[in-house]
Parts: sequence; structure tokens; C-alpha cells
Amino acid sequence: MDNVFQVAIQTLNRAGKLGGINPRVLDILQEPKRIQQFRIPLKLEDGSFQVFQAYRVHYCDALGPFRNGTRIRPDLSLDEIKALGLFMTVKHCAAAIPAGGAKGGIKADPSKLSSRDMEQLVRAFIRNLQPKGPWADVPGADIGTGEQAMAWMLDEYEQITGQHCPAALNDKPAILGGSLGGEEATGRGVFITLMAAAKDMGLDVSGSTAVVQGFGQVGSALADLLMQTGCRIVAVSDVYGGIYAEGGLDIAGLREHVAKTGKVEGFPGATPVSNEELFALDCDILVPAAVQSVIHQGNAAGVKARLIVEGANGPVTTEADAILHDKGVIIVPDVVANSGGATVCHFERTQGLTDQYWDLEKVNKQLENRILEAYRCAAQRAAEAGGVSLRDGAWIHALKMLEKAMKLRGWV
Ligand code: NAD
Repeated sequence: MDNVFQVAIQTLNRAGKLGGINPRVLDILQEPKRIQQFRIPLKLEDGSFQVFQAYRVHYCDALGPFRNGTRIRPDLSLDEIKALGLFMTVKHCAAAIPAGGAKGGIKADPSKLSSRDMEQLVRAFIRNLQPKGPWADVPGADIGTGEQAMAWMLDEYEQITGQHCPAALNDKPAILGGSLGGEEATGRGVFITLMAAAKDMGLDVSGSTAVVQGFGQVGSALADLLMQTGCRIVAVSDVYGGIYAEGGLDIAGLREHVAKTGKVEGFPGATPVSNEELFALDCDILVPAAVQSVIHQGNAAGVKARLIVEGANGPVTTEADAILHDKGVIIVPDVVANSGGATVCHFERTQGLTDQYWDLEKVNKQLENRILEAYRCAAQRAAEAGGVSLRDGAWIHALKMLEKAMKLRGWV
């Protein structure tokens, strides 16, 4: 199976061809502009020493300063970070955000690090970044990093520069200049695009059934909003396995259960289902909101859903994408569906730079406007290109923007 970076490059080249994009633009985008790799030696709290591999990939800054995402997980790879950097580049274009695409990461297992070790690690990460600052590179959170990690990173940055600068880091707690609505933004965006796509397909969400893979920040926020429409969420899974209930799961109750036990398994009234079985369940809507490459050549034919909305980045491989397209399944691609987080990060930086902080209603309204526009642009480009997929439509739209910016800059 191709890795997620190869899948991203295949999508780039296919959309580039379909959209008649200048080959020099595609050539620039085959690899990141800059890859920083460094090793962080750390004396851990238990007295042992460990060296951690870290990356920051600056993919493309034709549209603006590099921005977003710091992933910490044990089997992290450079290719994964490169793919995410390219996705961020496209996502910013899709959502009309004047920013470049970047992603960073540290190969480490956060569950095995004490709070003190985690703090030392992320502070060292910020010290090593070159360049940094609100007009150069603005890291945000991703898997394995949350508000606390971003608060430590902001503090480190401000100690280095001797100035307060909330716009230098994203996904911070609100009290340090973070945006309201940030935590829920990606799930909310997935929900808004799901509703828009369902409407276009003539699918009544309130009378439909859905399956959600991943019950973290994205999956749980989406599931909450979806349930409020009357949609029956018949199955949910996490890394340990899944649960199924034909009559629909009570999402508020499931949240409480997960808060207590750490997993969806064992939720009263539900039967166990594996992550693999999940994709073949009878349902109208499928939302993969966990990890990449989970819908592949081996299981795509068994998917029953009519609509897939990609909460995760790269959950469908190139081969699976073709199989699903032939089956008539509509896929709202990651670069549109999960761009809500990047969009609110943009609002967060704007608030930091202006020192004016928005109320939740303004954040959610602006998010809705932007993500619906991103969905409409993708749909329009897909139609203009002769009825190609929404994924290709979104990428063509992004590539046209990058082509224009690169031409004006004299790069192509
Ligand atoms: P999270 O860590 O809060 O939750 C991830 C969930 O997926 C957990 O329930 C976990 O148990 C489950 N999971 C992990 N590995 C799995 C596996 N192999 N099989 C099944 N379930 C598995 O993460 P999140 O913030 O909800 O992000 C989920 C996905 O959405 C990721 O792919 C992330 O890159 C993407 N995403 C997140 C954001 C954001 O703002 N959080 C923005 C854009 C994209």
C-alpha cells in the first residue's frame, strides 16, 4: 500500500493534470521547500537519557507564512509530516486563508512521558525551530499536543524573544490569546460540510444512519452535532475497537463513558464491532475521523455508505478513492471537510495580531461562511472539470490559486 505522502502526491499530480496546471507549479510541489530535522537529547525525570527525532516541514509559502500542526506520536515518519504539510498547503487555499502549509512533529510516545518531560521536549522543539515568529512560521497543535503543550511553546517563544506575541503560536488556551471555538472547530466544520453535501445529494440527514471512526476531538464533536439533527449514529470506534447499536448510540452518554473508562468499548446497550467491520456496516454516512489510509483497496468495495466525509487526513487511499468513485459514493475530501481547525487557527492569529478577541458566535458564523464557500468552490471546480470528484475539484481550486501566486512572485 502506498504511504500517505505518495497518496498526496498522486492526488496532486492527478488534479494538476485535470486542471491544466502549469507543470512548473507541480514540480515545485513535489517536495517541501524546506525540511528541518533535528534531534533533541533530554534527561528524563526518572534520570534516564533519551534522544528524540523531530521535524518541521515547510511545504509551500506561496500564499503566506508557514502555519500549523505539531504531531507527537511513537511511530511518526518524515513522509507523514511531508504529506500533512502538503495537505495544509492545499487546505489553506481551499479555505481562502493567506498562509503557507507546514507541519511539525516529534517521534515520541506522550503516554510514556511525564508532564515535566513533555514540557522540556516541546520547549526544546521551539528553541530549535528556524525560522520562527508570526510572519515566518506559526506552529499549532495536532495529535499528541493540546492546549497545555501550546502554552509551553508560546511561553518558550516569548522568553526567547523577550516580547509577548500570542500570534506566534496557534491552538493556545483562550486565557493566553487562543480563540474561542477552537477545540470544536474541526468537528463543527466536518458537520457543516456533511450537511451541505447531503443536501446536494438529496439525503435527509435527520432520517439517516451514520458510522464514525475515532471518538477524539474531531469524531466526538461531529457525533454530538450530528445526533442533534436526529441522525442515528449506529457505530463508533476508537483505537481499541468499536461499538454498534442498531437503534443509535447516545453520544452524550458515550462521552461520559469514555471520560470514565478511556474507551468506547463496554458502553451499555451496545455490541462490540472491530475497526475493520465498521466500514462494511449498513449506513448512509461514514466519517473516518481517526488516522490515515484506513479505507483501502482491500475494504473499499464493502463500504455501504453513500456519503463519506473525511474528518481525518488522508483516510482513503488512491485505489480506494477510485473504487468508491465508481460505486457512486460521494466523498467530501479532508482538505475541505477538516479545514475548520485551520480556519479557526487563522482567526486565532488574526485576533492575536489585532489584540481584539471575538465572541463564540462570531467565530462559528465566520467558520460556517468560510467552510461552506470552500465546499462550494470544490463542487464548482469539480463540475467545471467535467464531473470529477470533490477531492479533485478542491485540489484544482487550490492549485489554480497557487499557480496564480507563484506566477505573480515570478517563481514559474
Ligand atoms: P484525537 O487524538 O483527539 O482522537 C483520535 C481518535 O482516533 C481517538 O478516539 C483514537 O482512539 C482513535 N484512533 C487512533 N488510532 C486509531 C486507529 N488505528 N483505528 C481506530 N481509531 C483510532 O485526534 P483528533 O484531533 O480527533 O484528530 C483525528 C483526525 O483528524 C486525525 O487524523 C487528525 O490529523 C485529523 N484532524 C484533526 C484536526 C483537529 O483540529 N483536531 C484538524 C484537522 C484534521
